[in-house]
Amino acid sequence: MRIIKKVSDLIKHLHVESMKGHSIGFTPTMGALHEGHLSLLNASIADNDISVVSIFVNPKQFNQKEDLVKYPRNLDKDSEMLKEAGCQYVFAPPVREIYPKDYTDSPELDISQFIQSMEGPNRPGHFEGVVQVMYRLLKIVSPDRLYMGQKDFQQFTIIDYMINQFDMDTKLVVCPTVREDDGLAMSSRNLRLEANIKSEAHIIHDMLVYAKEQVGQQAIENLENEIMKRLTKGPFRAEYFDIVDGNTMEKVSDPKKHNYIVACTAVWAGDVRLIDNMILKAPEVNA
Ligand code: AMP
Repeated sequence: MRIIKKVSDLIKHLHVESMKGHSIGFTPTMGALHEGHLSLLNASIADNDISVVSIFVNPKQFNQKEDLVKYPRNLDKDSEMLKEAGCQYVFAPPVREIYPKDYTDSPELDISQFIQSMEGPNRPGHFEGVVQVMYRLLKIVSPDRLYMGQKDFQQFTIIDYMINQFDMDTKLVVCPTVREDDGLAMSSRNLRLEANIKSEAHIIHDMLVYAKEQVGQQAIENLENEIMKRLTKGPFRAEYFDIVDGNTMEKVSDPKKHNYIVACTAVWAGDVRLIDNMILKAPEVNA
């Protein structure tokens, strides 16, 4: 496994791989890796000849400086995990490699339709930063397949839109959320949870399961409000619990009018902000 820090080096290596006819799978991450990240890498390894994982804590997607500073970083441990899992290339660039001083190549993409709800209003500028880094990374890596987690529902929806809008030659593969035994979604941020809060944090998943049981049984707004209340007690404070259309991210009021419905939530657990989601109704896939 090679650990590469420079954009030009990665481009050279991947060019050689492409010349050999090797397909490339790419998993972008911000490090502090866990089994959720490894599930994406494993899918990439299964589908492609070569797998690339990037580790880059993207400053442009943090709307709070404190969150950026506190974000866990551990390149040595991450590299060990990736090597063991069978990754070929780790791309761990410093910030100036991704955003050189004179770099201006930002995509012209209107994502306003997707950011009216949920993470959009609560984290101003976040998705613009995600789009910027993903555009840059996809141009550098040019993968055949891109692996992202369902855990960040709004994020993969926006990146899928970007890939389609720019006719990029990359297929997005979305992998299911990997959870702890009690249902808590794995997240790099879980490292920052105090033990007593972590042991209670399964309430987030419990409420998503409850929403799935209840959708169609009671008015959506009542259900959202009830769950917001139940997710705001002790060290927990719900920022939003929204039931939205899985394609458009628009709020659902009548579930019968939508064939793809997802519940998304952000909850503060002490001073750690956790997000999670669950598909309440999936579109039928034609065999
Ligand atoms: P992050 O390092 O948090 O930016 O996440 C990198 C990628 O891993 C994103 O596509 C996430 O959606 C995905 N991911 C994060 N947590 C999980 C999880 N628990 N299960 C599956 N994928 C995940």
